Amino acid sequence: MLPTETVENVKGWLHSVESTGTLDGPGIRRVLFLQGCPLECLYCHNPDARPFRCGRETDSYTQLREIARNRDFLIRAGGGVTASGGEPLGQPDFVRSLFTGCREMGIHTALDTSGFLGARADERLLSVTDLVLLDIKHIRPDRYLELTGRELEPTLVFARRLAARGIPVWLRYVLVPGYTDDPEAVDGLAEFVRGLGNVERVEVLPYHKMGDWKWAELGVENRLAGTPEPTDEAVEDARGRFRRTGLPVF
Ligand code: SF4
Repeated sequence: MLPTETVENVKGWLHSVESTGTLDGPGIRRVLFLQGCPLECLYCHNPDARPFRCGRETDSYTQLREIARNRDFLIRAGGGVTASGGEPLGQPDFVRSLFTGCREMGIHTALDTSGFLGARADERLLSVTDLVLLDIKHIRPDRYLELTGRELEPTLVFARRLAARGIPVWLRYVLVPGYTDDPEAVDGLAEFVRGLGNVERVEVLPYHKMGDWKWAELGVENRLAGTPEPTDEAVEDARGRFRRTGLPVF
């Protein structure tokens, strides 16, 4: 089952695929990790997914055929397909083709993005996107720049655009000691989220060091090598600050 008439076949580059993901959206999901990301997050767990136009070359028909084979299972599991990364909006035509095919098959779609390339998500792509998992990495522009090497503003513009369109968002926030755990910043982001009106849940994700070996393997300096994982108390404190928005927080 492959809708070929309305779906254009588009070439894409994948980092990897997870066939039964449970962390990136509702239910059990097929998660496509796209290769390439313009950010340089200090805490990146997948630095090998950052370079563009490399990784596994594929096309949307090939991926949709795989998705079609799993369609009934994904739907029964209350799940769907998530485009993650890397940064999926680095390949917006590929994602649009995938999501258009999913929509025709009745499969839920989720876009896991930092929002930095939100301007590349055109109306056709947004019209086939059921949920956005939006990572806002810091609410202060200077600290966002320090953490990611990029500007914060495009992400906020994208967040407001999603709100104006009424597209559901799950906010994700990685808690990194000394970088994102400052109470004022957490409160500031919680206030921003409260004002949007389309955020359905908040996920506070404790920074962890499980991807550190990749930095060593790539021979790239890991500037967070000396940064510890947050304590349970710090994570609960941040969750409590978001909880005051009245949203479910995980
Ligand atoms: S947005 Fe994600 S993939 Fe890109 S650098 Fe940051 S953590 Fe890594």
